[in-house]
Amino acid sequence: MDRNAFFRRIPKIDNILEEEQILSFIQDYGLSYVTDCVRLEVENLRKCVREEEEESRIEQAFSSLYSRITERIEGDVKPKLRKVINATGTILHTNLGRALLSPKIGQELAKMLSSYSNLEYDLEKGERGERYSHIKDSICKITGAEDAMVVNNNASAVLLILSTLAKGGEVVVSRGELVEIGGKFRIPDVCAASGAEMREVGTTNKTHYRDYVEVVTENTKAFLKVHTSNYKICGFTESVEARELKPLSLETGIPIVEDLGSGVLLPLEKYGLPHEPTVQEAIEAGVDVVCFSGDKLLGGPQAGIIIGKKEYIDQMKKNPLTRALRVDKLTITALELCFLEYLKEEGIEERIPVLRMLSEEQSVVKRRGEALLHLFQKESIPGEYSLQPSKAQVGGGSLPDTYMDSYAVVYHPEKLSVSQLEARLRKGKTPIIGRIWEDDYWMDLRTIQEEELNEIIETFQEALY
Ligand SMILES: *Cc1c(COP(=O)(O)O)cnc(C)c1O
Repeated sequence: MDRNAFFRRIPKIDNILEEEQILSFIQDYGLSYVTDCVRLEVENLRKCVREEEEESRIEQAFSSLYSRITERIEGDVKPKLRKVINATGTILHTNLGRALLSPKIGQELAKMLSSYSNLEYDLEKGERGERYSHIKDSICKITGAEDAMVVNNNASAVLLILSTLAKGGEVVVSRGELVEIGGKFRIPDVCAASGAEMREVGTTNKTHYRDYVEVVTENTKAFLKVHTSNYKICGFTESVEARELKPLSLETGIPIVEDLGSGVLLPLEKYGLPHEPTVQEAIEAGVDVVCFSGDKLLGGPQAGIIIGKKEYIDQMKKNPLTRALRVDKLTITALELCFLEYLKEEGIEERIPVLRMLSEEQSVVKRRGEALLHLFQKESIPGEYSLQPSKAQVGGGSLPDTYMDSYAVVYHPEKLSVSQLEARLRKGKTPIIGRIWEDDYWMDLRTIQEEELNEIIETFQEALY
């Protein structure tokens, strides 16, 4: 092999930079960045000429030089966070961004993004206002709480509450409620981080009222109840509800804090799901401070909502952590609009996408599946496909053993293996995230949106040809 001949063929950087396509990149992204990309790819080519044993591989490296420069630049400038199609059937998929917001809220968000707002400005008085004021009234109206504030997520809400009420003292928690949520949120660790000492009571399966009574000392600062949202203890069990703890709380003056997890504002029974404790129930039971996520069953943006007695919320607002855990105008906008939807319960499923997916009749899910199958036929997508009954899930660490009847389009490719197909769909222009089961590819229609059907077809066409 005449390596020197190959070396002589390596184009000069300056010459590459004069090519038409590269010139257009320079116009869009600047000379110095494009030059760096070109240099890196020319360096790769040089390395190939130096080390590669097969001439055909070297030829290939020459012929793909421009496409590799293009790929590098396009890979760099394309946003890494992208829309995907959730075909997993898990409605609150933490890895896929949890709750969807409605297009209406999306439009309001877009408007807020590029305008000033009265985020911390009181339009009545013409003076400095408070960022929580916008959501307070609607939250309080819906939940019956006295006061409310919002932080970055529910994990920060728990941290802030414990740090404010129990730092340097003890917080009492049942051993049956020492929850770990995905992503390293563990009650004992959050307690430790807040500076409160955790005082465990009871056992894994049974905690009695007297267990709480026995551990109360002068140093006890709060009773913490945690909703065991992602697991169930069955059989020989007993726990003490917040309502039952209330007399002890009143007698000792020690507040009850409850981490509800999901933030359900409606009885889920109406959708044929098991009862999940609602926010209103916690307030009614006399819980002093309640916190929950914004982007679980509430169906809003990522946030940690803290509601309850004004005296405690006031203390929290003064905690320096509040500033560190502060939410921005986008969160406030989306959350306020979401709560305003809840003011009117009738037809709420049409306005909160999470509730729509939870409550949608199976016949509607099936019709969407039939529409997708029809598109597969119309576009002559090769392979075998059919509509099959499937099971969807709430996800996001909520209702762990509950499955909803659903439908899935089950697809078997002709020329690729199922795992090759899965990878190509995952890396497509609009990535599809589905499931492989028994050598077929499953796309659950409960989490696929009506307007995504055409995008699915496009991603399939791209993946198969
Ligand atoms: C999900 C959950 C959390 C964490 O909420 P994030 O909003 O994800 O931070 C905390 N506690 C409970 C009980 C939960 O279910």
